[in-house]
Amino acid sequence: MPSEASEVGAGRGFIRDIIDADLAAGRNTEVVTRFPPEPNGYLHIGHAKAIWLNFGVAQEYGGRCHLRFDDTNPTKEAQEYIDAIKRDVHWLGFDWGPHLYYASDYFDRLYDWAEHLIRAGKAYVDDLPVEEMRVMRGSLTEPGRNSPYRDRTVSENLDLFRRMRAGEFPNGARVLRAKIDMAAGNMNLRDPVLYRIMHAAHPRTGTTWCIYPTYDFAHGQSDAIEGVTHSLCSLEFEDHRPLYDWLIDNLPVPSRPKQYEFARLNLGYTVLSKRVLTQLVLHGHVTGWDDPRMPTLAGLRRRGVPAAAIRGFVRRVGIARANSLVDIGMLDYSIREFLNKTAQRRMAVLRPLKLRIDNYPAGPGEELIAVNNPEDVAAGTRRIRFGHELYIERDDFMEHPPKKFYRLAPGREVRLRYAYFVTCREVVKNAAGEVVEVICTYDPATRGGNAPDGRKVQATLHWVTTAHAVPAEIRLFNPLFTRPEPDIGGGLIGELNAMSIETLTESQVEPALAAASPSEPVQFERQGYFCLDPLSTPDRPIFNRTVGLRDSWTKAQVMGT
Ligand code: ATP
Ligand code: MG
Repeated sequence: MPSEASEVGAGRGFIRDIIDADLAAGRNTEVVTRFPPEPNGYLHIGHAKAIWLNFGVAQEYGGRCHLRFDDTNPTKEAQEYIDAIKRDVHWLGFDWGPHLYYASDYFDRLYDWAEHLIRAGKAYVDDLPVEEMRVMRGSLTEPGRNSPYRDRTVSENLDLFRRMRAGEFPNGARVLRAKIDMAAGNMNLRDPVLYRIMHAAHPRTGTTWCIYPTYDFAHGQSDAIEGVTHSLCSLEFEDHRPLYDWLIDNLPVPSRPKQYEFARLNLGYTVLSKRVLTQLVLHGHVTGWDDPRMPTLAGLRRRGVPAAAIRGFVRRVGIARANSLVDIGMLDYSIREFLNKTAQRRMAVLRPLKLRIDNYPAGPGEELIAVNNPEDVAAGTRRIRFGHELYIERDDFMEHPPKKFYRLAPGREVRLRYAYFVTCREVVKNAAGEVVEVICTYDPATRGGNAPDGRKVQATLHWVTTAHAVPAEIRLFNPLFTRPEPDIGGGLIGELNAMSIETLTESQVEPALAAASPSEPVQFERQGYFCLDPLSTPDRPIFNRTVGLRDSWTKAQVMGT
C-alpha cells in the first residue's frame, strides 16, 4: 500500500461516517471491503476511485480489502483482463495480500443456494422468450404481469433447473427467476433473473458449467461468503440494494454484508465505461488498451502519469453521493503537481530550426552545467554541450514579430538557457522563402546566462547542439473526444477528436535523454512533461507528452480556436 499513509485518510466523507457509526454501535467489529472488477476489460481511472476507496478504508481501519473477480459472464471475460487488472491494482499502490478471490470459486455454493430458493418456493424456472419477459416486466408506471410459468411446482422447478445445469437446453431457452413481486415499485424486485444458460467455456471453470449466475445473484452472496462488512459500489447499484438484501435475508449465508453506494467518477472529454473503451480498441480508434490517450490505468501509465498523481487526483475529487463531471484540468493539475517536484529537467527541441553562431569557434564546443530540478537540490546537476551550431524551437523565432512576441527576431538579443546571450544578425531562406537557418553572434561575457553590464533580455530559449542531439519522435496528445460529455448514443465516430494525437518526427533531444526510462517522466523545459515510450529503441527514442506545463487545450476550446 502507498507509504503516504496520511494520503489515504484525507477527506473523510460519508462512507467513513457510516463505518464509524457501525463500529461504535457494535454492528461490526472489523472492516472488510472488496474491489470487484468484472474481467471484461482493463481498469480505467474511474476504477482507481473505487480501488482507492475500498483499499484505503480497509487500511485506515486496520481491516482488509479483497480483490474479487466478478467473473460470471464467460462470453466477455478473459485471462488477459485478469492479469492486467492485477498488474494495475498493484501499480496503483495497493495490495490484497492473500485475499484474491473469484466469484467462480463460489459456483457450487451459489448453485446450492439457488436450489434452496426453489425448495422454499422462492424461485422458478421460466420458459418465456427474452423479449416477452421484458414486456411483461412492465415499466416504471405500469406493474409487471406474472409469467404463466410462475406457479410451477417445486419438483418441476428442481427438475428443470437440474436439466438446465446438465446442458439439456440451448442458450436462452430458460432462466431461473426469483419469485418476489411483479408489481413491486422497484423493477429489480420483479422476479429478477438469477441464472441463465450460456454454453461457453469459462477462463477458470472451463466447461464445468453451462449455466451462470447473474451479477445480482453472485455479488451479495460472494460478499457474505468472504465476510465482507461494507460492500461499496457505485450509485447505479442503489436500485439493486433491495434485491441484495432480499437474497441475503432468504439464503443461509454465513454473514450479513451491507451495500453502500457512492458517486461514479465521470471525467470530461472521455468516457469511463469498459464497454465503450472496448469499442475503441476493437475498431482500431486507438492502438490498444494502453494507448496513451486512453483513460485506462495502462494508458495513463504509458503516458507517464505516476500512480501517486492518480491517487492524489482521486483524493482531491473525494467520495460524494451525487454524480458529477470532473474537469480534466483537475487531473492535469494533479499530474503537474507531482511531476514538478520529481521530474528531472531536460532540453528537447520539438520542431527544430537551425541557429548558427558566427563568432563562436567551430569544433568540439564547451561544457556547461545545467540544473536537474530546481525544486529538488538533491537531483544535482549535469553537463551539457554547447557549440556553434544549435537547434532552437521554430516557434521561438519570427522574422516579422508582432507586438507581443518577445523571443528571437532579427536584431534582437535573447538568452540561450545555461549558456550565452545571442543576437540574431541575419536569416537564411530556402527556395520557398521559408527561414531555414538563423545566424547569430554571441557575447562571450554572458557565459552562464547573465550580462556583467546588467543588461536584460526578454526571453530565454532552450536549445540542443546539432552535433550532439539525438533525433527523437515526440507524440503530443489531446483528448480522445471533442466534447466534455460525449454523446455516444449515435455512435462513437462523430464524437472522436481527429486531433487526439500529433506525431513529431523531426525532434532533437539532449543526449542525456538517450538514457531515459519509461517509468521516470522528465520535464522538457518550456514544453511539458514527457515519458519514454516502451516501444522506443536506443537509436530512436519515442517520447509521449504526459501533460503540458499549462492548460492549453481547454483554453483553446473556450476561445473557440
Ligand atoms: P464499466 O462500465 O467501465 O465496465 P463497471 O462498473 O461495469 O464499469 P466493474 O468491473 O463492474 O466495472 O467495476 C468494478 C468496481 O468499480 C465496481 O464496484 C464499480 O462500482 C466501480 N467503478 C466502475 N466504474 C467506476 C467509476 N467511473 N467511478 C467509480 N467507481 C467505478
Ligand atoms: Mg460492471
